[in-house]
Amino acid sequence: MHEGLAVKGKLQIRMHTVNPMCVRCESATKITIHCLLHCHESKTAWTLADLPLMTHHLEPWRWWLWLLEQLNGVGNAKTQITLAAILTWQIWKMRNLKVFEGKALSPHEVVSISRSMATEFLSSSH
Ligand SMILES: [Zn+2]
Repeated sequence: MHEGLAVKGKLQIRMHTVNPMCVRCESATKITIHCLLHCHESKTAWTLADLPLMTHHLEPWRWWLWLLEQLNGVGNAKTQITLAAILTWQIWKMRNLKVFEGKALSPHEVVSISRSMATEFLSSSH
């Protein structure tokens, strides 16, 4: 019980110190979709990965459906969808690394990591 309260207190302290705005450009609108797609470094990552970049604003789950629609029917759809899923995860990790540890990864690094993870995943899932 005591430990539970202590953890809650730490979480509250932590939540108060986490800036709800984007740490990269200080935009505060629709933070999740902003971090994943519209922040400058995220846009660069999607472009480098040669994946469709949504320029209008949708809720995250609608965006994912939109993305699947764009990739549906392309020759390498499975590869591209896998890369998109991993890239989304890695962009979020890149954001968290900056928020919680003050470390920065470049979009090139994020795409490179995502590409090797996608290749590894696809070669192990046959
Ligand atoms: Zn931003």
